[in-house]
Amino acid sequence: MAITGNQVSIAKEFLLKGEVVAVPTETVYGLAGNALDEKAVLLIFEIKNRPSFDPLIVHTDSLEKVKTFVSDLPEKAQRLAEHFWPGPLTLLLQKKSIVPDLVTSGLDTVAVRIPDHPLILELLRSLEFPLAAPSANPFGYISPTTAAHVNAQLGAKIPYILDGGECEIGIESTIVGFEDEDVVIYRLGGLAIDEIERVVGKVKMMPHSSSDPKAPGMLKSHYAPRKPLFLNYKEAFGESTQAESTGYLLFENFICGVPKENQRVLSRTGDMREAAHNLFAYLRELDALPVERILAERPPMKGLGLAINDRLQRASFSEEE
Ligand code: AMP
Ligand code: MG
Repeated sequence: MAITGNQVSIAKEFLLKGEVVAVPTETVYGLAGNALDEKAVLLIFEIKNRPSFDPLIVHTDSLEKVKTFVSDLPEKAQRLAEHFWPGPLTLLLQKKSIVPDLVTSGLDTVAVRIPDHPLILELLRSLEFPLAAPSANPFGYISPTTAAHVNAQLGAKIPYILDGGECEIGIESTIVGFEDEDVVIYRLGGLAIDEIERVVGKVKMMPHSSSDPKAPGMLKSHYAPRKPLFLNYKEAFGESTQAESTGYLLFENFICGVPKENQRVLSRTGDMREAAHNLFAYLRELDALPVERILAERPPMKGLGLAINDRLQRASFSEEE
């Protein structure tokens, strides 16, 4: 088990030694190391068992610092940054050569974000380098939204978890790139598309892909529990019901005729923010129940509902299909 605490100075000490620690953000917990130190970055990939074609997000605490490692800040990027940072928005920007190729998987853009959590902001302010930080979970599994989630899976592999409580947003950042005059959404996430469009006008959606590294966070199977997850009632059961051996992830209401302990309701009031906040924690709880499968209800496709549906879709994908 890793030492868990809320001491920014301890996290800083490990990072200065080139080690990797878990850090809280408002989206999910990150596995952080010095983004400009290739050895630390390599350690992140090893600990996560993450394929090297999947690039990392670089975190920092000010636009001035961003400009030290990106070569160009398009006008729309600047506007989005000023509007939404710190917050659940990642921008793909042209990198300077001080950013190791390992961080970007050889791409000439780097993913950048200023996260909105007091502990990681305090840590970033105290450091002279930015932090590369993917989600603090084994590659492909559900992202962690508490220090306990991190400890359960990576506790034996890292020296320290900076505990900042439950992640407020609970779902990864929205990733946005820039092509000529266009703003392109690469991954749906904690900042809803309509909010982005209010600032920069109509955006383009990047189509899903399973192997193209320019399609970030877009592997078909990702964010997945160990138990098979189904989105479609008939697919799971045919015409029969097996309520006892099924865990239910529901949007707004409990269902009758199923043991209540097998059910998790994302938001009793249908609030998308609350639903996103609970999504990964509830998936983990259902995964830990003595059930054979998980059946998830799709929330409506509005606001953060798009990102929640995206995560459920990936969680449900199996290579055998
Ligand atoms: P994670 O930190 O695990 O939420 O993953 C971050 C996501 O950002 C990954 O899915 C990456 O593929 C994506 N990403 C990071 N940098 C880039 C980049 N330069 N271009 C495209 N996608 C990126
Ligand atoms: Mg991840």
